Amino acid sequence: MDKINWSELSFGYMPTDYNVRCYFRNGKWGELEVSTSENITMHMAATCLHYGQEAFEGLKAFKGVDGKIRIFRLDENAKRMQSSCEMIMMEKFPVDMFEEAILKVVKMNKRFVPPYESGASLYIRPLLIGTGAKVGVSPADEYLFVVFVTPVGPYFKGGFQTANMVIMREFDRCAPQGTGTVKIGGNYAASLKSGEIAHQKGYSSVLYLDSKEKKYIDECGAANFFMIKGNTYATPRSNSVLPSITNKSLCQLAEDMGMTVERRKITVEELPEFEEVGACGTAAVITPIERIDDADTGKSYVFAKDGVPGKVCRKLYDALRAIQYGEAPDHYGWTTIVE
Ligand SMILES: *Cc1c(COP(=O)(O)O)cnc(C)c1O
Repeated sequence: MDKINWSELSFGYMPTDYNVRCYFRNGKWGELEVSTSENITMHMAATCLHYGQEAFEGLKAFKGVDGKIRIFRLDENAKRMQSSCEMIMMEKFPVDMFEEAILKVVKMNKRFVPPYESGASLYIRPLLIGTGAKVGVSPADEYLFVVFVTPVGPYFKGGFQTANMVIMREFDRCAPQGTGTVKIGGNYAASLKSGEIAHQKGYSSVLYLDSKEKKYIDECGAANFFMIKGNTYATPRSNSVLPSITNKSLCQLAEDMGMTVERRKITVEELPEFEEVGACGTAAVITPIERIDDADTGKSYVFAKDGVPGKVCRKLYDALRAIQYGEAPDHYGWTTIVE
């Protein structure tokens, strides 16, 4: 294999040696299987192709300062995939098998885990799809779980930096009582167009409002939203936000730093009251937001200057990364060491 230039990695797909699969057939999950193929063969009437029976996860493995490989919050991702499956009527993949599959795929692709110094990581992508053939609308009776890995570069190549976001009321990513709380491809399909428009206008992402009243802040296309005011960390409570594991972790760290954590409805009008705001998710941990433009009202909300993140964003970001890279003690058992 050619040497990987760890410092040149982006957030893209690079082939690795193995992926791990498991099939649900005849009413039960089979054994974990190791594959070297990048392809999946399936029936053309598979429900994932027609009726959107598809859920996925995203987590990371890090080579720590001590040379050990740590996977961040494996159990939380396993449980979230189950809740996604429940919502779109797919067979749930057992939590213990999920954990076993991920440990296996990381171990088998050890040589793709970037070195500590690179600031890069191994991205882990589990997915679960309905593979059973159906023409009438109904859940499949066969499913496939697959997990592959790919090394990804540090999100912030030039160091921790801010981004700009935009509010556009003409698009929703999900319905008020819909599938916003689960991690499924359908939500992403619904957000591609608005995301592209935002990118063309120079924004890193859309900031979605609640789709019913367009009054409350929901989240970004693929990341949760949080805001800082004095000693308070606030994040929207909503029935259409995906429960981000990064956000959950940051809430805990904020509390540990003596901050007050608020989970409540937050209106657009409140934005000027906040000193720092950011997006959070596995990909970047935190993307501090410099400016939010409201494309409909023409208002701009500014939270930072010259790409420099706020102090609290920096502190939270450093604290979480330190746990992921084994630099700080893992008090809550968030990381699983790959032996
Ligand atoms: C995955 C995802 C997030 C971030 O969740 P993490 O568990 O922190 O990676 C946020 N919003 C949406 C819509 C997502 O799909």
